[in-house]
Amino acid sequence: MKLETITDNHMHIDPANGMGLEAAKRFKRAGGTCMFLVNKMSKDWGVTVTKAGDFTAIFEGTVELGQMIAEETGLAVFPVVGVHPAELVYLCARFGTVRALEISTGAVDIASGFVESGLAAALGEIGRPHYPVEPDVFEASNKLLEHALCVAKDLGCAIQLHTESASEKLFDDLSKMVKNTGIKPDKIVKHFSGPDTAMVQKRGIMPSVLSSTENIAAALKHNTGFLMESDYIDDNRRPGAVMGPKTVPRVTKKLVETGVLSLEDAARIHCDNIEKTYGFELP
Ligand SMILES: [Zn+2]
Repeated sequence: MKLETITDNHMHIDPANGMGLEAAKRFKRAGGTCMFLVNKMSKDWGVTVTKAGDFTAIFEGTVELGQMIAEETGLAVFPVVGVHPAELVYLCARFGTVRALEISTGAVDIASGFVESGLAAALGEIGRPHYPVEPDVFEASNKLLEHALCVAKDLGCAIQLHTESASEKLFDDLSKMVKNTGIKPDKIVKHFSGPDTAMVQKRGIMPSVLSSTENIAAALKHNTGFLMESDYIDDNRRPGAVMGPKTVPRVTKKLVETGVLSLEDAARIHCDNIEKTYGFELP
């Protein structure tokens, strides 16, 4: 048995401000086979948002970028589309919370069309800012998140969450939203999770662990119920600020070579957990 599938559950590729295709090639060369490509924000696309419909170009651009990467590299690329919490904060500053919420919920509805038609694999990243904001902006973030959970429930699709660090308060809030919307918690992926996966798993939510060797080794001590991600942002203006595109394949191989991760468990993380969470089979 060998490592047939290596999946990075959360990557951004930015041809305008980063390496673009070259980053995907590096991922592939390191052993990656499958990536979840999360859309970058309007400012990265050079799009000035004044209405929900302006997000269409961003989602289309992400889907087209994914198709180009797949054609050029042979990678399996799954676009994930949504409104980043920082995008909502930015819209609130420009338009006020009421209009910002109108625009962003409309954008999530547009994103849902991409998932429904099969162009995108899931919704995300959606949630609430990981830094302090005014109470009304936080409230708007929660409303947008609950709307997105509702949409995901109706579509039966998964949703990647971007939130503050895991805490009891966060999971209590999420549990209420899960109850209100009826979404199955196992369709919710907590992006940027730390090694304490038990806290997320306890709520039935799938952790996507930021893949330093230490984080993954620590998470493995508990169990294999998690996904791996680099959260690569592909931005030349922030070199070295984040993990590189080779991170997930490199760390996976290293942990297999050192006997920390068995091939069976690697297959569970990179293939079975992905298929179960997203509800489709990997090629
Ligand atoms: Zn991200």
